[in-house]
Amino acid sequence: MIGRYLKYLRNFIMTEPKRNIITIVGTTGVGKSQFSIDLARAINGEIINADSMQVYKRLDNITNKHPIQERYGVPHHVMNHVDWKEEYFIHRFSEEANKAIEDIYDRGKIPIVIGGTHYYLSSLIFNNKTIGSTNEIRPKQELTKEQEALLDGPVDNIFEELKKIDPIIVEKFHPQDKRKLRRALEIFYETGEKPSFIYHEQKLDELESSSLKYNTLLFWVYSDPEVLKERLDTRVDKMMVSGATEEIKELYGVYKEQSPVPDCTSGIWQVIGFKEFLPWLGETNGDDISSSLYKEGVERMKIRTRQYAKYQVKWIKKLLSVELQKEARFRFKYGGKLYLLDATDLNTWNENVGARGVSIAKQFLENGPRAVTIPQAPENLKEMIPDDGFFDNYKSNKVLGSESNWKHYSCSICKDKNGNDLVAVGDEMWQTHLNSRRHKKALAAGDKKRKHMELLQQYGDANSRKSVKLDL
Ligand SMILES: [Zn+2]
Repeated sequence: MIGRYLKYLRNFIMTEPKRNIITIVGTTGVGKSQFSIDLARAINGEIINADSMQVYKRLDNITNKHPIQERYGVPHHVMNHVDWKEEYFIHRFSEEANKAIEDIYDRGKIPIVIGGTHYYLSSLIFNNKTIGSTNEIRPKQELTKEQEALLDGPVDNIFEELKKIDPIIVEKFHPQDKRKLRRALEIFYETGEKPSFIYHEQKLDELESSSLKYNTLLFWVYSDPEVLKERLDTRVDKMMVSGATEEIKELYGVYKEQSPVPDCTSGIWQVIGFKEFLPWLGETNGDDISSSLYKEGVERMKIRTRQYAKYQVKWIKKLLSVELQKEARFRFKYGGKLYLLDATDLNTWNENVGARGVSIAKQFLENGPRAVTIPQAPENLKEMIPDDGFFDNYKSNKVLGSESNWKHYSCSICKDKNGNDLVAVGDEMWQTHLNSRRHKKALAAGDKKRKHMELLQQYGDANSRKSVKLDL
């Protein structure tokens, strides 16, 4: 533990130099591309596309490629190079995008990544720390016949076996959660390490070093959802008359020839604005845009575009900003702050998006990630960015998911479907259960008050229990 602590301190104090990268996120149709051009011209940058549809050749309208004449000669990488019949994968993206980043650095320029496809973007800016990576390092052992039989057997046996081997991890899972219990036992068989140990090591690794590969500046081009909705609808109408209809028709020609025909869940066929028109294409072969099927296609495309935009905002708020906020433990010395640019009112674009974004980027590049003096969000949108309070939560067991929260609580008043005492995992679930309608109903059904008080006594009142801080 002392060794860990020293390593943490060293990481905290010493500055490992990292190169600079800029990332732009935001919903479809909010103006990320337009801003990227303003930015690239101001800071000598080049663009890397991280949208899985814009890698496909042509189809500039339905994939929303920024028009060449509006790019002012700014180079765009990882774009417009994949055949329609090919399926593009994340590992190919990583390879191509990383190569482009190196190439941009070699020429003394700054890479600007425009995110559209979230896991593409994540793979570029974050170090990979998935559970799989640890298992790959440790040599795997072949399972014996007995071990395999046990793993494929009843959940109760798995639970008992795991309890003997690792009484800490077993408390993390519900006793009927076969998938998780089985996986934990399997990890033990394969690696010979207790799953709780592996889990703990991984959590500590996460705490010790920044998950950012570069000094990272992130922009969130944002629009009020109601205003955006209107803008997206208008944009779809514009797309349809400025070439999207012809693109869809051409794409259908290739689609028809494939056998079997693609199911629209992979490759270019997932693009918003193709599947939606299949009934029209099938009926009229794409020749009659006065058909009601065409109008229905346009409506479906609008709905799906809005859904996609919603999903993108959710990702930024719930996943990206939370992951980034963990950099607070290094006081953002590698960056990781998300700067919101308000694109709601297009009349103030130059001031609120262009000029503000360029000023932030210049401060970041000239004086380092911590030197940016401009606030992360304008006053009226402050609540969109998570505050520093998150760091306190992160240190507590709640976010870390520490062992102190892995505890089984049995309610002797309520029964599960097998007639056993109902089990809640962790303080939070237990409190929720005690306050649930189900538990209260069971209490009222007989004189169970005394039993309830006994339970509280047995487990203690969770609210009065102090949260256990991680012992680094
Ligand atoms: Zn109960």
